[in-house]
Amino acid sequence: MTPPAKPSDEVMIDVQAMERLLQAVYEHAGCSPAEATQISRNLIGANLRGHDSHGVIRTARYIQNLRDGIVFANRDAVVEKENDVLAIIDGRFGFGQTVGPQTVDIGVAKAKQKGVAVTALKHAGHLGRIGEWAEQAAASNVASIHMVNARGSLLLAPFGGIDRRAGTSPFCAGFPETDGEPIILDFATSLVAEGKALVALRGGTPLPDGAIITPEGEPTSDPSPLYGDLDDNQVPSPYSGPGALCSFGLHKGSGLNFFMEMMGGALTGSGTAGALGEDKRRAVCNGMLSVYLAVEFFHEDDWLAREVRAYIEFVKSSRPTETGGEVLIPGEKERRIMAERTVSGLPISGQAWSDILAAARSVGLGDDEIQALL
Ligand code: NAD
Repeated sequence: MTPPAKPSDEVMIDVQAMERLLQAVYEHAGCSPAEATQISRNLIGANLRGHDSHGVIRTARYIQNLRDGIVFANRDAVVEKENDVLAIIDGRFGFGQTVGPQTVDIGVAKAKQKGVAVTALKHAGHLGRIGEWAEQAAASNVASIHMVNARGSLLLAPFGGIDRRAGTSPFCAGFPETDGEPIILDFATSLVAEGKALVALRGGTPLPDGAIITPEGEPTSDPSPLYGDLDDNQVPSPYSGPGALCSFGLHKGSGLNFFMEMMGGALTGSGTAGALGEDKRRAVCNGMLSVYLAVEFFHEDDWLAREVRAYIEFVKSSRPTETGGEVLIPGEKERRIMAERTVSGLPISGQAWSDILAAARSVGLGDDEIQALL
């Protein structure tokens, strides 16, 4: 298959072809084969579930982060301090796709012994789609909660404010379902993820009203205040504009966003988005505070499974607001998109595809080699 690389066109890329390409890209960039597999599966997993903003489009940025020393290949997480139910873990700026699952393994193992556990992961490279870490715990019959911040990522204005003071800090919770797929709630605490603002800036799906606040304090759906004035060929940076993203849910979402900084940034030791008295932006990394609950410690018989199944059916039986509509539970939309995209392939914008090919060339892959992988 030879997809066109015109920036304006969307291309459909076969999942296995994308896996082969990204595997080669990350191995050429210095990652071990196992790490390259972890990164490509996590990114492709986000596209498969419809979260393109946290998918393969990140490749150019990840390769640049390696070059800039923001993230390091083949670095494992190190446990700094632990007891039976707590582990404080340093990600040492390794790839989030390496230190994230290592952290979850530690939390799950402790929860399986004692019923509950907490991990505090600091200084992780970008952890990508956080839902993957909740799915990993759920696969061992462990429910989990993850509160994540991004030190140094100033994108969002607090409720009632104009100036940027926080990142898009995601919240995620997962619950194992005995007879089916885990239930996964996973979202940024901004009204829209930054990647969605970029898509809108590039002429894609428009933003909802109030997603952005202008430097004058006016809510808007126009993404340009986030990026500022751009020259024709300039790559838009969300850190350049005078405006900011807004949280979801007014003061409530803004309060949840604040607690991501407390839990994921301050308590873990990773560092908050920023602080007064600093003249330059903090180096970016993710911090993640996670709680694990081994459900067999709470219920030994099948009561829980029956209760959860019955509640899901109760929720879904609510009359839809729209004719032909349907109530979905957390994670259901992603599962449906995944069923479709596993067959159809991944729709990738022409611009994103050009960026991925450019990243592949930049790590030394020739056009012939790229063609052979596709
Ligand atoms: P989103 O706004 O699409 O919300 C997704 C959540 O809402 C899912 O749990 C989904 O099942 C649920 N949902 C969606 N439509 C629904 C419906 N009709 N009915 C019921 N539930 C529904 O997600 P987002 O805010 O764009 O976040 C995208 C991804 O970005 C997430 O995976 C998140 O972890 C990731 N992220 C990561 C970072 C980081 O620093 N690593 C930062 C921000 C976001």
